[in-house]
Amino acid sequence: MCLDCSSLGSKGLKRRHLMKLAGLGLAAGGLAPVALASETKAPAAADSHGAEGQSAEAPTEGAHDAGSDAGHAEAAGAKPAAADPHAAPADGLTPKQALAKLREGNRRFVEDANACAADLAHRRTELAAGQHPWAIVLTCSDSRVTPELIFGGVTLGELFVVRNAGNVLDTGALGTIEYGTEHLHAPLVVVMGHKKCGAVAAACDVVKKGAVLEGSIGKMVQPILPVALAALFTSEDFVGQTVRNNAVSGAKRITEESAIVTHLVDSGAVRVIAAVYDIETGEVAFIDKIS
Ligand SMILES: [Zn+2]
Repeated sequence: MCLDCSSLGSKGLKRRHLMKLAGLGLAAGGLAPVALASETKAPAAADSHGAEGQSAEAPTEGAHDAGSDAGHAEAAGAKPAAADPHAAPADGLTPKQALAKLREGNRRFVEDANACAADLAHRRTELAAGQHPWAIVLTCSDSRVTPELIFGGVTLGELFVVRNAGNVLDTGALGTIEYGTEHLHAPLVVVMGHKKCGAVAAACDVVKKGAVLEGSIGKMVQPILPVALAALFTSEDFVGQTVRNNAVSGAKRITEESAIVTHLVDSGAVRVIAAVYDIETGEVAFIDKIS
């Protein structure tokens, strides 16, 4: 919970915050939705699953198709009807809808980082019976890379997150992703690296300078070494290029190494993409084409 919310408390939100939450579709938790409805320009509430075409487009990298159906609601300066981060359950999203929801969440984070999820006690009670996360994120343990925040303040029960230094696809990560897709039915898997990643930089030092990493760190970054080697001399930004390639490589390996996920991808139930998070701007560049 951000400082604003913690200081205001769930019952005493100021008008500015009510407006903000209404814009996020968070008014459902007893925050006077009737009064707010006449004051917001948002179109009729989106369905709880974040209908396609109602999400703003986040910065993208490379070709993408999900972005093409996003951003239309911004015409004439109207605030887009945001997907409801508190909607429950979130099962039933298509991979495309889940990606649009991530894009919209990241746009909120970049443009209005003070907005955050609220009413956690209510949400916790709701989720006690079961979880229905709508996206799986494999990313770095870096303390600046917190998926629940950088995707717009999504709350409990929405993202199924796997983290380790360097977002390495090891056995634990792959098994977790298989569980999230097959048993929890999350439709989207994102492998997300980030700029200025210390683990990737360490792997680059091994490749470029022959650095020796102590303890288990050396073993941990081993899967990054071939990616770093392939990126050597291909870009002036060796670490940055390796970050990108490592995310793409991780995403590709998920389907190459998991028959479970491959089956779900082939059926259209699941989509696997890569992404790079910019820790300075807050923007996530989605890489839809990983093959
Ligand atoms: Zn990192």
